[in-house]
Amino acid sequence: MFLDDDEALEAAQLTKQTLVDTQERMGMMLDLMPMGFLIHTKQGIIFGNQEAARLLQVRQNEVVGRHFLDFLATHVEEAAKQMEEAFHGRISVEPTEAEVRTNGGPTRTIKLIAGALPWEGNPVVQLLLQDITDLKTIQDRLHLLAVTDELTGAFNRRHAFTIGHRLFDARNAASPRLALAVLDVDHFKRVNDTYGHSAGDAALKMLTQSIQAVIEADPSLNATLARVGGEEFMILLPGMAPEAVHETCEQIRLEIERRHVLSTAGTFQITVSIGVAWRNEMDSSFDILYSKADSALYEAKAVGRNRVCFDDSSQSPSKSRMPT
Ligand code: GH3
Ligand code: MG
Ligand code: MG
Repeated sequence: MFLDDDEALEAAQLTKQTLVDTQERMGMMLDLMPMGFLIHTKQGIIFGNQEAARLLQVRQNEVVGRHFLDFLATHVEEAAKQMEEAFHGRISVEPTEAEVRTNGGPTRTIKLIAGALPWEGNPVVQLLLQDITDLKTIQDRLHLLAVTDELTGAFNRRHAFTIGHRLFDARNAASPRLALAVLDVDHFKRVNDTYGHSAGDAALKMLTQSIQAVIEADPSLNATLARVGGEEFMILLPGMAPEAVHETCEQIRLEIERRHVLSTAGTFQITVSIGVAWRNEMDSSFDILYSKADSALYEAKAVGRNRVCFDDSSQSPSKSRMPT
């Protein structure tokens, strides 16, 4: 009997020690987890692991007592909603992506997954934080590649048409006007034939820089420039009065005409013809607007090139203007 009691006591102590060890190990595992982990009450954080402290850019002993939302620079409302849902026992289907406040350092983006935790008394949630900064950077680079024309750095045709369709469909009081300018280089074949294809490429880069210089000179212009074909470009000009559109297009034409292109075969200049159209009540789609601008461009070519012409059916200060 005596021996049995001893054995039982030993076994109980072993079990207790195992439990304590397990608890400690669980704590260590949570602490070393490669994902940010926070335990949060309605009032604030009651536990934060090492990775959470690194992501939130504070020392680990400074995490407890703070509120998670105070660490966010963006998407605070979405994160608050997700936490609120977790406090009500729900797990959000869509994780929230948010940027963490930095003290002048590089931006850090996290993915937040919130879930309810079984806890006595106060409702408690767990927040899992995944560092997606590198993923975001790669995503942004890929997006830029997908929307950019390789030669000129302007937007590409697909992206410009996506924006064009979006602007066309946004018929709201804030931006009732939408103008579209389509540009084509005059006698570009001759440029290639005389100075070579790479000189032609240099001319297209110069043309892009000229247009960018004009549209960037006025920060109120919300213009989108894209290369839509070999030596064809389009510029979306939303929210501008017709006179201002006319002036901007004329400035662009003059700026391109003024600049010189340097090539091994010699220095040369190029000119462009520009067709402009405005969205009006009758237009049913962006493609219609585009074909109106294209017709005006055709007219600019037909009547002599190096000029801006306006679509007949569009509101405009004058139908066409000869270069000065
Ligand atoms: P027009 O005034 O009527 O527009 O005459 P054009 O000679 O410009 O006629 P067209 O538009 O038919 O010719 C465009 C030429 O642009 C044909 C092609 O060789 C050249 N081109 C197209 N893409 C590129 C490019 O990326 N680089 C260079 N260097 N040339 C290109
Ligand atoms: Mg062409
Ligand atoms: Mg041409």
